[in-house]
Amino acid sequence: MSDTDTYQDPENIEEIVKDIFKQKTIKDIYDMLNKIFPDFIVNVLTTFSGDYPHFDQNWAGMCIALKVNKAQIMLVKNYVEDDNHLLLKTFCEVFTQAGFVIRRYTEFFPCSVCNKVLPNEFAYNKLKELNIKVPEKWDTKCSNC
Ligand SMILES: [Zn+2]
Repeated sequence: MSDTDTYQDPENIEEIVKDIFKQKTIKDIYDMLNKIFPDFIVNVLTTFSGDYPHFDQNWAGMCIALKVNKAQIMLVKNYVEDDNHLLLKTFCEVFTQAGFVIRRYTEFFPCSVCNKVLPNEFAYNKLKELNIKVPEKWDTKCSNC
């Protein structure tokens, strides 16, 4: 079974979604998600590497639009966005609305020195193609680490 088959909606999805919106804090919702899909969240990190300022700018812009403060960056397993994965989609939307950034762990990882988030080589090359400012060479750590 691949990553993506693991997160199909359970039969009692309606009940769980109602439960999500009854929770008092985002931490409670985080705990719920971890209980239902225990291996989905791979890593929770604080900030992007300064080598990639546009990630932080996009995040800040998103938070201004949503009128929330920046929360954290969640690196997660791959998942399918379709009608069989609506629970996970709901969780992701709730976290996004609360100021989190959700990224796939197959494209982002923490710097080996300081734990700030960096794109992997594949994502790096995509950014380069899009003419987004990136360091001259891809690396597993920040240029100043
Ligand atoms: Zn670093």
